[in-house]
Amino acid sequence: MNTPRTVAYFSMEIGLRADMATYSGGLGVLAGDTVHSAADLGLPLVAVTLLHRQGYFTQRLSATGVQQTQPTQWAATAYLQELPARATVSVEGRPVQVRAWQYDVRGIRGATVPVLLLDADLAGNTPADRALTGVLYGGDARYRLAQELLLGLGGVRLLQALGYTQVNCFHLNEGHASFLTAALLEQELERHGRAAPTDEDLAAVRARCVFTTHTPVPAGHDRFPLELVRQVLGPHPLLQLPALWQDAGLFNMTFLALSLSRYANAVSQRHAEILPGMFGWTHVHAITNGVHAGRWMAPPLQALFDRHLPGWREDPSQLAGASSLPGEALFAAHQEAKQALFARVQRETHQEFQLDVLTLGFARRATSYKRADLFFTDPVRLEALSRQHGLLQLIFAGKAHPRDKEGQAMIQHIVQAGTALAPRIRVVYLADYDMTLGGLITAGVDVWLNNPQPPLEASGTSGMKAALNGVPSLSILDGWWVEGCVEGVTGWAIGTLEDHQPQPEHRAQDAAALYDKLERAILPTYYQQPAQWQTIMRACIARNGPVFNTHRMMQEYAQQAYQLSP
Ligand SMILES: *Cc1c(COP(=O)(O)O)cnc(C)c1O
Repeated sequence: MNTPRTVAYFSMEIGLRADMATYSGGLGVLAGDTVHSAADLGLPLVAVTLLHRQGYFTQRLSATGVQQTQPTQWAATAYLQELPARATVSVEGRPVQVRAWQYDVRGIRGATVPVLLLDADLAGNTPADRALTGVLYGGDARYRLAQELLLGLGGVRLLQALGYTQVNCFHLNEGHASFLTAALLEQELERHGRAAPTDEDLAAVRARCVFTTHTPVPAGHDRFPLELVRQVLGPHPLLQLPALWQDAGLFNMTFLALSLSRYANAVSQRHAEILPGMFGWTHVHAITNGVHAGRWMAPPLQALFDRHLPGWREDPSQLAGASSLPGEALFAAHQEAKQALFARVQRETHQEFQLDVLTLGFARRATSYKRADLFFTDPVRLEALSRQHGLLQLIFAGKAHPRDKEGQAMIQHIVQAGTALAPRIRVVYLADYDMTLGGLITAGVDVWLNNPQPPLEASGTSGMKAALNGVPSLSILDGWWVEGCVEGVTGWAIGTLEDHQPQPEHRAQDAAALYDKLERAILPTYYQQPAQWQTIMRACIARNGPVFNTHRMMQEYAQQAYQLSP
């Protein structure tokens, strides 16, 4: 251990590399960008997650869009170093041993952030316990709860066993990590030789924790039946303090995190604004998400920026200089990224996409509030619009959770509606969305489409990846886009903020607003005003690149949440 670590970042998933199946989606990808920026900036961070030997799942799609799933095969320990320390967590009264594997994220100036991946696959554990660090978001509530105990309690104890004794700030990245507060509370009780917690003990725990909440969707907040928590956690002082976690008779992990953190934040300004009205939470700050510029800019653009703005990797605020890039060179670099994406389309679907056709991209977890099939609401209008203004291509991707039947039906709807629109409008749905595909698709399309049911988008980060690559967004005004949209300059809004009070879906209205922007602004500009299009591409990078990156984000966490001295 070189520099003492004072901040421990706990996350159920961390996307470190595309070929390490330790993540499922946005939360994990953001966590991966977080640790990469922390390493670049030399922040004194250590990260804790689970190993997930079976990953999330691998997605296959039939010709009609039926999702099939299989466990992910990956060389779980190929990139990792096993550490000798062990910790024990009691699960349903059985002692479960965990070990940690280490992955070092090396920053641009040579500093590292160690990532500890916890693993219960040890000979002394029962077969069922050995599988607890296997499947990300797998199993039933009991399995998930046990995983969260291993992450929270196991993580704190392993940090101790490994000598990370200077950690004075624990960052709970989403409520999955909330049981780390239970371990900290035990430490307080032990220190003072007490059996029952006092306000002083709770204050001591609170002084060491910060919490980030990532979704306003109620189902995104873990709530466990109290009886289950009693069984799996066993007798624990935390259970004597229902005011910390009680939620209509359930044990709410988000409530626990909010109760025992000295600082809590949402992931965009808009997200923080809606929380009081939705959940009654006040005092939740906002730190808007970002993406790691070096990880998400496509290679041809990286080469261009290395020539024109050589400091951008260390200081993404220099991307503001993109406004003076030669438009033709930027467009050419983009076409190269587009070609790389189309090569993948060809390889997987045997469809020949054309480089000079306006191409829209959409890749999200397939779940109903994200409305991936909104585009197909009015096929008659789409057909007419394309006949008048030009051809369109669309590329979709995204997995549905194996238990999310609506999400799976949405994928089928897209595939089938897409088939019906060919050949004027060509649609492909690429299987097994992961970080490699995420990079290809956000850089290689011409317009990024995002149309969730507002106000349920906490932030969204794919549009930020697109912007960094000179790709404008066509998006509902929600999440980060409320901050990033300059109409006609960095992209286009679907509807207005006023439309978006939490009320029944206005699907048809949102679809019509989407078509209006395509018809009046996007198609005519793309096909008839190439110089104007290049100006938009430059503006995406110059205006949004300097802001929506994880360097800026981590500097805000360092100052406001971790309170590290600069
Ligand atoms: C960027 C990314 C996400 C997150 O995208 P959102 O727009 O925040 O939903 C999810 N999965 C993968 C593979 C990604 O690359």
